[in-house]
Amino acid sequence: MLNRKQFLKTGLLGTIPLSGLGFSGKKKHVGSKPVVIATWFTALRANEAAWEILGNGGYALDAVEAGVMVEENDPKNMSVGYGGRPDREGNVSLDACIMDERGECGAVVFLQNYKNPISVARKVMEETPHIMLAGKGAQQFAKEQGFEEMDLLTPEAKKAWENWLKTSEYKPVVNIENHDTIGMLALDADGRLCGACTTSGAAWKMHGRVGDSPIIGAGLFVDPEAGGACATGLGEEVVKTAGSALIVEMMRQGHSPEEACKIAVDRIISRNKKAGKSLKNTQVGYLALNKDGAFGAYSIQKGFNYAVYNEDGNRRLDSGFRV
Ligand code: ASP
Repeated sequence: MLNRKQFLKTGLLGTIPLSGLGFSGKKKHVGSKPVVIATWFTALRANEAAWEILGNGGYALDAVEAGVMVEENDPKNMSVGYGGRPDREGNVSLDACIMDERGECGAVVFLQNYKNPISVARKVMEETPHIMLAGKGAQQFAKEQGFEEMDLLTPEAKKAWENWLKTSEYKPVVNIENHDTIGMLALDADGRLCGACTTSGAAWKMHGRVGDSPIIGAGLFVDPEAGGACATGLGEEVVKTAGSALIVEMMRQGHSPEEACKIAVDRIISRNKKAGKSLKNTQVGYLALNKDGAFGAYSIQKGFNYAVYNEDGNRRLDSGFRV
C-alpha cells in the first residue's frame, strides 16, 4: 500500500485509479496513517501525547486515551476534567466515552471526584458487561478500579462560578474560550480506528445534566468499515440529530469526511429552521476521520478549529462553517 508521500510521487503514473473510484464504485477519499485529529487547536499538545504512541506503532485506543488525558489533567482547560466549570450549584461533573476499532465502547456520565473519566470509561468497556455507568454507580466503580478520588473544583473555577451566580443567567456561549470538549479520533499504523470524547459539559448546567459527549452515536461514533466522528458544542443539538452516527453513515455512503460533517450541520440547521428557532448563539463543530485516514471538519459558526498530526506533522486547521 502506498503512503501519501509515495502517492504524490507516483500517482501520475497511474498506480492509483485517477478517477478516485474504488472497486465498489464509491468515491475513495484517500489519507494516510497513522493519523490523529482532535477538536480545537489547543489539542496540539494532546496530539503530541497521542503521536508518541502512534508514531511508535502503538494502538490507537491507547493513543486517544493518553491524548485526551492531557486536557483532563490540565486545570487551565476549564471545559474538561480537573478544573472544569461546575454546574449551577457548584459541582463539577464529568462525562466521557471511548470506542475501539471493533465498535466496542464504554462511557461514564455525571462522574464526580475523578479527574480522568476517559480511563474510567475504558474500564467500563473492558471490565464490565455494560457500556455506560452513571453518577454514584460510576463513582463506586472508579473507586473499585483504584482511581484516586479528589476535589475537581479549582479556585479559578470556583471564582468563575461565584461570578456567574451574580446574574445566574444560563446562556450557551459560542466557541467558549476556543477549547470546549475534547473529541479525538486516531487511526494507527495497523489500520485500527478508535475515538475518545471527554468534557465537563456545559458551564452552569442544571445539576445532573448530561450532554452529547458521553453518548455513543452523538458525541462520538466509530465504525471500522466507514470511519469515526466526534462533536463539540451545544450537546442538546448534537443528540437530537444523532450527529456522529449520521456522519459515519454518510461516509459509508461515499461522502468525504468534510461533506459528511456538513450534512450533519445542515441537519441541525434545517430542523431548527422548521421549528422557527434561531441558531445565532449556537455552535456545534464536527470532526471526522475515515478508515483510509482522510479527515475533515465542519461547524455551524465561524471559529471552530482542530489539530491534526500525521506524516506532515502536527498542525492547526480551521473548519469550514455554514453561517
Ligand atoms: N458538547 C459538550 C456538552 O454539551 C460541551 C461542549 O463541547 O462545549 O456537554
